[in-house]
Amino acid sequence: MDFALNKDQKELQTAFGKMCAADIAPCAAAADAAASLQIDNLKKIAQAGYFATAVPAEFGGKGEELVTLFALTETLAAACPGTAMAASTSAWLCNTAILKYGSDSLKKSLLPALAAGEKLGAFALAEPGAGSDINAMAATAVKDGDSWKLDGVKGLCWNAAAADVIIVIAKTGDGADAQPALSAFAVEKGSGYSVGEQAKTLGLRAAPAANIDLSGCAVPASNLLGAEGAGWDIAMDLLDYGRLQMAALAVGVSTACFMAAKDHAETRMAFGKPIGVFQEVAFKAADIYIAADVPRLLANQACWRKQQGENCSHLIASAKLLASQKVVEAAHKCLQIFGGKGYTADAPAERLYRDARFFEIGNGTTEIMRQVICKDLLGADF
Ligand SMILES: Cc1cc2nc3c(=O)[nH]c(=O)nc-3n(C[C@H](O)[C@H](O)[C@H](O)COP(=O)(O)OP(=O)(O)OC[C@H]3O[C@@H](n4cnc5c(N)ncnc54)[C@H](O)[C@@H]3O)c2cc1C
Repeated sequence: MDFALNKDQKELQTAFGKMCAADIAPCAAAADAAASLQIDNLKKIAQAGYFATAVPAEFGGKGEELVTLFALTETLAAACPGTAMAASTSAWLCNTAILKYGSDSLKKSLLPALAAGEKLGAFALAEPGAGSDINAMAATAVKDGDSWKLDGVKGLCWNAAAADVIIVIAKTGDGADAQPALSAFAVEKGSGYSVGEQAKTLGLRAAPAANIDLSGCAVPASNLLGAEGAGWDIAMDLLDYGRLQMAALAVGVSTACFMAAKDHAETRMAFGKPIGVFQEVAFKAADIYIAADVPRLLANQACWRKQQGENCSHLIASAKLLASQKVVEAAHKCLQIFGGKGYTADAPAERLYRDARFFEIGNGTTEIMRQVICKDLLGADF
């Protein structure tokens, strides 16, 4: 099976890459320093069709495959990881949740604006007391006539303040075997929730994250996604997409590390030579290249299998685990190639080093990825 992009997909990625190089990458350092969402950049990304990529044409999208969304996401992440985190959360998680689980009327009312980038999405599964352990979730949703009343605190959540639509998973019953019955909701802006202070994060600072207080929040019954009580399965399905998103972002950051390291190795002189001629430096650059290339191959296969509807959570977890570990190594080596300059904000290496660390945590930690792989392949239950 060949998972390489076809001619059309490559052309799409090349055109998108040109826009990212011209308009997004030059703003990356300033976006990090400002620690704020770059609305103008999101508009450019929207104009380039990013949010529409995997949305079917009938809802204003381009109907492209997941592997195309992966390619565009890694391209965007190579330009500005923080902006890519914000945009991809909307495209991979919010769009997918509504497309797969929303009613026809919800799809018609929300997807065209999400695909056009006129609305931004978020995904709120984790809570201050329930990250890896989703069963410890405390947020609730109670049916009240024609609406659902939500309560509890979600956090941290990318795009919390800016989002027009937040996919919220909440408890709607006790369920069996100590596993609460969960349900999923499309919570629209103005439905009564409040957003906490922006978190001071290590990296990805162009993507603000905050807690969401759901007390006082009510959504129409029609904003329930899937069936009542189907939230666990929906969350697990969406986490597959979220982990592919993390892999794409990590691969993109590894690519950014490679480009920065290569440029520096070719231009920085020591002992009368560009440092790239020293084997110790060149080998590091080779390792950084591999950090993007190998996880991409695995992730492309995982995208394809997910697209076919296969149960491939272990493959997705493997791709996420590999991409996230490799990007941390890549960022470490990139900073080393930059020497002292790499330790300062004057070089991209410092920012990429901070950005890289999130991918070993978000949408399931490295430890949880190993558990998913063991559960799927060995039937192990920890
Ligand atoms: C900036 C930021 C933005 C975020 N955005 C979002 C978002 O948009 N939406 C969302 O839903 N979530 C979001 N999160 C939450 C993120 O997904 C969680 O932080 C992550 O899943 C880990 O959960 P936790 O932080 O509660 O860690 P914990 O679950 O407390 O884990 C702590 C440590 O213990 C380990 N551990 C836990 N259980 C086990 C076990 N059984 N076996 C072995 N090791 C274990 C973990 O691997 C980890 O190393 C965000 C987090 C951050 C930091």
